[in-house]
Amino acid sequence: MAKRDYYEVLGVERGASEADLKKAYRRLAMKHHPDRNPGDKAAEESFKEANEAYEVLSDASKRAAYDQYGHAGVDPQMGGGGPGFGGANFSDIFGDVFSDFFGGGRGGSRGGAQRGSDLRYTLELDLEEAVRGTTVSIRVPTLVNCKVCEGSGAKKGSAPITCPTCAGIGQVRMQQGFFSVQQTCPRCHGQGKVISDPCDACHGEGRVEEFKTLSVKVPPGVDTGDRIRLSGEGEAGAQGGPTGDLYVVINVREHSIFQRDGKNLYCEVPISFTDAALGGELEVPTLDGRVKLKIPDGTQTGKQFRLRGKGVAPVRGGAPGDLLCRVAVETPVNLDRRQRELLEEFRASLEGNTTNSPKASGWFEGMKRFFGDL
Ligand SMILES: [Zn+2]
Ligand SMILES: [Zn+2]
Repeated sequence: MAKRDYYEVLGVERGASEADLKKAYRRLAMKHHPDRNPGDKAAEESFKEANEAYEVLSDASKRAAYDQYGHAGVDPQMGGGGPGFGGANFSDIFGDVFSDFFGGGRGGSRGGAQRGSDLRYTLELDLEEAVRGTTVSIRVPTLVNCKVCEGSGAKKGSAPITCPTCAGIGQVRMQQGFFSVQQTCPRCHGQGKVISDPCDACHGEGRVEEFKTLSVKVPPGVDTGDRIRLSGEGEAGAQGGPTGDLYVVINVREHSIFQRDGKNLYCEVPISFTDAALGGELEVPTLDGRVKLKIPDGTQTGKQFRLRGKGVAPVRGGAPGDLLCRVAVETPVNLDRRQRELLEEFRASLEGNTTNSPKASGWFEGMKRFFGDL
């Protein structure tokens, strides 16, 4: 059976515009679509014929080849034609896509307006800033609509053209062994349009990366992992879609003195062994400055002192936490002669005395028991 002329199939003039071709094709596809004509072989053939004709005529290079050489210029079996669908056959490609048009198919993404991506920005803060709150300026890279092409991606004076690979539908059907798989068109990424003459400023993306400076108000009490949402400060949406949000994620730097655990703060305070033995007054740091801490006599290393309310007021409200100071008894070094004499004398005074060393005496008892000496 001789192939009908593609222009004849679509019922258009040889010089028909792209829009006229599309209109004619739409009309035929709707009329002959298998979903509307179940079991009608003639309709199915007409549908395939229209698909094939439009596939060729909607592609500028294939159309030129067809105009010059006729079917031989574009028939894949004749070795002509441009880059096509590989082994996929046209009715497969269009058949499924049209199910979508008729509402019977999957909810494919057919390009169009898309919400911009949310962005994440990690904000490093000192502990003091996190506890007290602060306002910081941040510079964030973001995609904004290209001013040169006003977001279209096409060079001034040109416009995006219908994607020749998917004929503007955004989806193609590929043959993989025995299966045919519908997937997003690799050429236009589902947009249905491609840029033939890209804008120089954005390389056809329609959006460009720009740095913008934002002021971020950090409430007091934030901690690592907390997020502050700046609504509408994310990436510009594609094709007029809404802008995404910017999430500022807090990361509190390690502090030289304090460790934080939720609303409590921890610190280690070295004390002399004489202060530990005799008791005394220590100066300990808090976020609000130094405070005095009374140490009772006989304080052991590792003992924790709690300073109520000297921790962090949580960002979500509630009572502030505490500051826990852990004392570490320090062994004196670089003793002069006099100090050494005093300590020698002191050591002698401990001889045979178990009441001065509560831990050690218990420990030595245990050791003796362990070796069977008792
Ligand atoms: Zn541009
Ligand atoms: Zn495409």
